[in-house]
Amino acid sequence: MRTKADAVIIGGGIIGMAVAYYLAKANYGKIILLEKEVLLGAGATSKAAGGIRAQFSTKVNIEMSMLSEKIFARFKEETGNTAIFDQVGYMFLLQSDSELESFKHSYQLQKSLGLAVQWLEKDQISQFAPHISLEGVKAATLCLQDGLGDPHEFLSGYEKAARRLGVEIELETSVMSIEHVEGEVRSVATNKGTIKTDLVINCTGPQASLIGKMVGLDIPIEPVRRQIVTTGELSFITQNIPMVVDVKSGLYFHKESKGLLLGWADRSVEPSFDISIDPEYTDTILEKALERIPQLEEAEIANEWAGLYETTPDHHAIISRHNQVQGFITCAGFSGHGFMHAPAAGILVAELVTRNEPSIDISTLSAERFEAGVGVKETNVI
Ligand SMILES: Cc1cc2nc3c(=O)[nH]c(=O)nc-3n(C[C@H](O)[C@H](O)[C@H](O)COP(=O)(O)OP(=O)(O)OC[C@H]3O[C@@H](n4cnc5c(N)ncnc54)[C@H](O)[C@@H]3O)c2cc1C
Repeated sequence: MRTKADAVIIGGGIIGMAVAYYLAKANYGKIILLEKEVLLGAGATSKAAGGIRAQFSTKVNIEMSMLSEKIFARFKEETGNTAIFDQVGYMFLLQSDSELESFKHSYQLQKSLGLAVQWLEKDQISQFAPHISLEGVKAATLCLQDGLGDPHEFLSGYEKAARRLGVEIELETSVMSIEHVEGEVRSVATNKGTIKTDLVINCTGPQASLIGKMVGLDIPIEPVRRQIVTTGELSFITQNIPMVVDVKSGLYFHKESKGLLLGWADRSVEPSFDISIDPEYTDTILEKALERIPQLEEAEIANEWAGLYETTPDHHAIISRHNQVQGFITCAGFSGHGFMHAPAAGILVAELVTRNEPSIDISTLSAERFEAGVGVKETNVI
């Protein structure tokens, strides 16, 4: 392993790989990416549902998604590698007056930023999602530029492109400590040796606060378990049904192979690194799904898994230098939306490093923002 680098990226998930690619594309010298597991993408990236959407409630999240969606849609031109962005759309079902009010506000913001989002009245919903019961639903928002992608396809596309540009990737390499002297990063110690560097980029998703502690920082990113269930083949699935989010129940579902993928955010789960499957969690997902998709009576469970969201107090990522430690950047805490934001995150970190001026205003994603308490929250999270 190399003993000196211009930048060391910790974490070989979708975020670390995108950062590596865009930094190498910007000709930032010798770049090493360190991943503790035997494979890239073995962490949260391998657990993602594959949803990609720009329907958020804050400007920065909408802008990051719109940039990412452009890249996902022309990924082959960008990286030379094929990965499919299946733009089947994303639909949010709205029931209560408060949901209508909050989504109307977000819809107007999204429109003002140029997003092709539609407001659907109840009688317009079935033409896009004939498979769902509209019991209790009053309206919906729909964006047909949103859609689905396979995180591993995009990860592997970024990996191949980054390797071509000279990025070194070290697997089974755990970062054990980070040497920092007088507030400046000096080197990274791993189980395979030490690398001298003056730039470390923390892309460790749910583990980001553990890496922060290595340089004396308290990074407020908590791991929270989320579960998913997939079904076997279902007769009513067609190629163009959108991802549907039932805002009230927190259930979401999209086509997966010839069946459905079902997910739900159990907000009672306490932060921990536990990713064992809780059968009660699975049962609740199925109960909620049956209410919205009665035809699921015919369904068989094909697979189920649990993974970790990397949650910040305001559900926005941290993409930022840290005032207390020169040469340390965090790009993590996407609060369950890191796959869809990976292209933008990679571009923005590269811009932060090479010209200190990201093309999207990410001042609201600074690491220091929590010193003043929790500010504006992203409300459109599942
Ligand atoms: C159930 C579920 C569904 C989701 N659905 C979606 C979705 O539909 N759309 C979406 O956009 N997002 C979704 N997400 C969120 C998404 O998976 C994450 O936001 C994203 O994968 C974060 O990527 P990452 O690279 O930051 O983290 P990770 O993929 O976790 O990568 C971090 C890497 O750092 C490595 N690492 C940690 N510590 C060290 C160390 N000390 N030394 C070396 N390496 C280290 C880990 O091994 C890991 O590979 C979902 C998440 C879950 C759990």
